[in-house]
Amino acid sequence: MPAPIIKIDSISKSFGSFKVLDGLSMDVMPGEKLALIGPSGSGKTTILRILMTLERIDDGHIQIDGEQLYHVERDGRLLPADERHLTRMRQKIGMVFQLFNLFPHKCVLDNVTLAPMLTKGMPRAAAEKRAMELLDMVGMADKAKAMPAQLSGGQKQRVAIARALALSPKIMLFDEVTSALDPELVEEVLNVMRRLADETDMTMLLVTHEMGFAHDFADRILFFDRGRIVEEGKPDEIFRRPKQERTQAFLKKII
Ligand code: ADP
Repeated sequence: MPAPIIKIDSISKSFGSFKVLDGLSMDVMPGEKLALIGPSGSGKTTILRILMTLERIDDGHIQIDGEQLYHVERDGRLLPADERHLTRMRQKIGMVFQLFNLFPHKCVLDNVTLAPMLTKGMPRAAAEKRAMELLDMVGMADKAKAMPAQLSGGQKQRVAIARALALSPKIMLFDEVTSALDPELVEEVLNVMRRLADETDMTMLLVTHEMGFAHDFADRILFFDRGRIVEEGKPDEIFRRPKQERTQAFLKKII
């Protein structure tokens, strides 16, 4: 059995006096496609932001790809990680947000090439070649010179996916990537994610309210409520035969 690529061990996180996560543990296996579902405010996005080092944890440990995320081991001791370590760890992970977060004053191509050139020192020609392949994969190669303001929400989100892939991350995080889109634009983004899931062995974590998509996309569903995993299982188990009352009540409301 391979080791988990993400190992979350008893993490806690508070915002002020509000404890969002309280001793949460979970593992993700390499290549696994995981969907995090549950009511708003249950801590799902916070978990993705913690993995992306956009939020710090108050307690606990996280291992990614065999290395401590927030700590470095020195002389057998675990010390808080420095910025260089965090930057290196961050490159293992790509994240796509609810709101597109493209650089507004850069064209589509530059949005995708910037990080590999700046953080990996990739030469422009190589970065552009790779960017064009990725833009082709998300169906946006013909818009390489367009500015973000000229794109629809669905197109922006497809560029954001290409940009996150440009650093060849081992892990992709998707945070409600379709919830700000007009309904008719949702499918084009989900199609790109379906293809990614089918054609790559990347590990993917998805926070979503699209239950149909979560069912098709995920190998495993985690149902969260108040910062805890209430129930987990294969999509059919969770959606057709939920065991816990809270899962049943949530699914009844949302489907
Ligand atoms: P979910 O993704 O399940 O909807 P979140 O992880 O976004 O839940 O949020 C969990 C709780 O933490 C919510 O009550 C939210 O208001 C709160 N929260 C999240 N981020 C912050 C923050 N930066 N400052 C204060 N409260 C926050």
